[in-house]
Amino acid sequence: MDDFDYRHGELHCGGLGVSTIADRFGTPTYIYSAATLLDHHRKLARAFAALNPLICYSVKSSGNINLCRLLAEEGAGMDVVSGGELHRAIAAGCPAERCVYAGVGKTDAEIEFAILQGVGVLNVESEAEFEVVAAIAARLQRTCVAALRVNPDVDPKTHRYTSTGRKETKFGVDIERARAFFAAYGKDRWCRLTGIHLHIGSPVYSVQPYVDAITKTLALMDELRAAGHTVDTLDLGGGFGADYETGQSPEASVYADAIVPLVEERVRGGLRVILEPGRTIVANAGILITRVLYMKQSGDKTFAICDAGMNTLLRPCHYDAFHFIWPVAPAAGFVPQRRARTMQLDGLALMDVVGPICESGDFLAIDRPLPPLRRGDLVAVFTAGAYGMSMASRYNSVPLPAEVLVEGHEVRSIRRRETWDDLIAHECPA
Ligand SMILES: *Cc1c(COP(=O)(O)O)cnc(C)c1O
Repeated sequence: MDDFDYRHGELHCGGLGVSTIADRFGTPTYIYSAATLLDHHRKLARAFAALNPLICYSVKSSGNINLCRLLAEEGAGMDVVSGGELHRAIAAGCPAERCVYAGVGKTDAEIEFAILQGVGVLNVESEAEFEVVAAIAARLQRTCVAALRVNPDVDPKTHRYTSTGRKETKFGVDIERARAFFAAYGKDRWCRLTGIHLHIGSPVYSVQPYVDAITKTLALMDELRAAGHTVDTLDLGGGFGADYETGQSPEASVYADAIVPLVEERVRGGLRVILEPGRTIVANAGILITRVLYMKQSGDKTFAICDAGMNTLLRPCHYDAFHFIWPVAPAAGFVPQRRARTMQLDGLALMDVVGPICESGDFLAIDRPLPPLRRGDLVAVFTAGAYGMSMASRYNSVPLPAEVLVEGHEVRSIRRRETWDDLIAHECPA
């Protein structure tokens, strides 16, 4: 679970009142709990200890260098999907050797940067990309290590935008083509193809898709070894769930109980295992706080118009995602006991929680039962730590929000709120 709870009628984080944090830093603001972040990372490390995995935190889920630094100091590596994220990981103090780099569209400049920095593993997603990586490594006279991202054709039963391991996705190489891939490139001198990478989608709330994908992959690895190839690294990707609703996601130990027995023996035989969790570590470690600007009726509908919207948190409108939303200081009788989609409380009213952006698709929640809200009320959007700030935009020229980190009983800014001048700072003067 997490470090955000209601005490004396008000939402707190690490013992600090969220209203006080809002008064100090303004709204909208992302608040992260260091304790929750580290707790989730440690739970994963403990659950998968038998595999002694390198846990590479997925930077794209929430990339503030202060968050990355906390995890890097715990020994985590980083999973990056662009040169910019690799730069970010290194700036956060993570050695490049502990970084793994995936992505279907790496540019030549990004590949060169990754090789020169000595990135741990380049996860290659096509034949064409491998040839470019090998040519760049040869030109630089630097060896690099690559893993083939295979597409095991399993259905993770998640939103089609985040399903990445079925045949029809742009990611990876069909698993049937992997043998030919290794036959063609397995002996490359500069780009040493010695790993297999999987990432089937996100969030994956059941263990079966992992079991199916890993089973297919282990059979492939046996075939590759029989054909004389070295395969010493297995990267299982990320996608473990998070609790958007109470108890929605299996614990780390449930995933581990299904996955560890499949690969344990090979680890004893020298196989290196990599995990790439993002959401499961950071989603519940962050909330978004926003202030109600106006209450408004249109036809039969009630709207709570807030200062955060799709520009701040894209997930509701992009993925139809559910985020639990509740007032930071609800009236007496409205303090939630549990975070659940349906709460049997009298006096709730259905409303749409929407943002200021000029789009009808700009919402945080539709027809949500909430206690009465008024102008000026603070509202918390829970489980917003993953794919929140990292997907925020400046659409409508609204500056990006602030990010703050609660460590122990202290809160500090980890990204200042942007200003209107920041919005135009990169534009050449007319
Ligand atoms: C996004 C991504 C992840 C992380 O997914 P989560 O659901 O946040 O765990 C891991 N690996 C790759 C290759 C990704 O693209």
